[in-house]
Amino acid sequence: MKKGSLISLTSKGFYCEKGDFYIDPWRPVKLAVLTHSHSDHAYRGSKRYIVVDTGAELARIRLDPEANITTRRYGEVTTVNGVKVSFHPAGHILGSSQVRVENKGEVWVISGDYKLTPDPTCEAFEPIKCNFFITEATFGLPIYRWPPPEQVFVEINEWWRRNQEKGKASVIFAYSLGKAQRVLAGIDRSIGKVYTHGAVERLTEEYRRAGVDMAPTTYVGSVSNKKEFAGSLILGPPSAQATTWLRRFGAQSTGFASGWMMVRGARRQRAVDRGFVLSDHADWPELNKAIRATGAETVFVTHGFSDEVVRWLNETGMNAVPVKTQFAGDDAPELHDEESVSPSLPAWRV
Ligand SMILES: [Zn+2]
Ligand SMILES: [Zn+2]
Repeated sequence: MKKGSLISLTSKGFYCEKGDFYIDPWRPVKLAVLTHSHSDHAYRGSKRYIVVDTGAELARIRLDPEANITTRRYGEVTTVNGVKVSFHPAGHILGSSQVRVENKGEVWVISGDYKLTPDPTCEAFEPIKCNFFITEATFGLPIYRWPPPEQVFVEINEWWRRNQEKGKASVIFAYSLGKAQRVLAGIDRSIGKVYTHGAVERLTEEYRRAGVDMAPTTYVGSVSNKKEFAGSLILGPPSAQATTWLRRFGAQSTGFASGWMMVRGARRQRAVDRGFVLSDHADWPELNKAIRATGAETVFVTHGFSDEVVRWLNETGMNAVPVKTQFAGDDAPELHDEESVSPSLPAWRV
């Protein structure tokens, strides 16, 4: 990514010099174009933001109620200082986008985080032809291959039913933006009642407002009779794990929904009873498919296993280069895309 090219990497993030704007900057700038609202991509303090309309409310929660946010529809082309900018679905969370930047026939796509697996809570990933593609590599190793989500939901439902028969509550830890709503959309609503942690409830309300169909939920804090929790399903963010928040639920079984649950030892490390392999990032086959579909002459790889993905792409005849970004470097508790951060070194590296 050379200085002076249409997109370059600066100390504040990806920058389009010609258009004078940044994509997902990690410092305050004049104009920030955002791929999505996970905290490592949506940084507070910029003068102005452009986001896709379906992600605007989530961006407002993440950024600041007063943030100056302009919205665009998917596919709508905006010209910023002569450079064409448009948003295209990334399939990661509600309103997540790939940002397409075009100038004089040269096309760049900054994909943010993405997945190809069907997800009823967000718009489906759309492949876009480009000359230069910037991809994530959170799960960029051949060992990461997601089971079909239907199968994972059968596992979750069976676990919930078994706990219910024993009079236990089922507590699932899932990232509050995206993953929790995906769990709510996929579970069997006929089994029982579903309760949520405040962080999950607030974002779930936004998803509901956007028309996403999910199991009805009740905010845990509004329940006075703790006996209600027996047999129910409770959704909390990972940060609620090992806190006093859990005590009120009485007898319980715990589970964690994340792509990291594929790694041997991750469930034990998270100290939960069950691990459910459910990710909002592309697995190895999806990464390869998405990258090839772009037809890009050069692929820039960031997030996670970038060196490994670059080596693989180079070996298979593609021009790929790792780029060091600060994505997944932020620690804001509730809205952070914690799935981007490996809980530890995966077993293969040790
Ligand atoms: Zn993300
Ligand atoms: Zn990310």
